[in-house]
Amino acid sequence: QEVDLNNFLNQLVASFESLAHSKHIIFKHSQPHTPHFALFDTDKLEKIVTNLLSNAFKFTPENGRIVIKIDYSDNQLIVQIQDSGIGIEEARLPHIFDRFYQVEEHNNYEGTGIGLALVKELVDLLQGTIEVSSQKGVGTRFELVLPFTPLEKLSNPVVQFERKVNVDESLISA
Ligand code: ATP
Ligand code: MG
Repeated sequence: QEVDLNNFLNQLVASFESLAHSKHIIFKHSQPHTPHFALFDTDKLEKIVTNLLSNAFKFTPENGRIVIKIDYSDNQLIVQIQDSGIGIEEARLPHIFDRFYQVEEHNNYEGTGIGLALVKELVDLLQGTIEVSSQKGVGTRFELVLPFTPLEKLSNPVVQFERKVNVDESLISA
């Protein structure tokens, strides 16, 4: 879809503010103010960011801290989500994107272990990358990089095509 990516993400992130408030979590959100019009599959983007933020809120105890940073560089969207939650042991990290995988020590949390498997699948479909780093008892950080097609670039050929049509029409009427 044609969308202002920046506005879309701003609204999506804002929808987590009440959850942050009720869980007494400091929720920091930074992103540029300029619109970024693009052709983008926002359904997939919404599922990815919602899953990552939901995990951050689930695995971060009360009075914790979650930071989401959104940026754009070289036609790539960069989303960083950092939490001060329970963290993931290094040995478990390679498995967290597997379907139905849940860290054993986390079995007092609800879920089925499907969220990150879906995230990985969607990131692959969007030809992006996702990386995770974590420290047990300290927190977890995900970095998502997704390429996008800015709309200015796409509109050029369309304008040229319309001009050609106009020239043809004037020849016909002459
Ligand atoms: P579901 O997403 O299906 O509700 P889930 O959240 O348990 O269940 P995933 O989102 O796939 O499953 O995450 C897999 C596992 O990775 C989690 O069970 C948890 O052990 C670990 N994990 C994911 N995100 C975090 C995080 N931010 N902090 C700590 N552990 C995490
Ligand atoms: Mg999840």
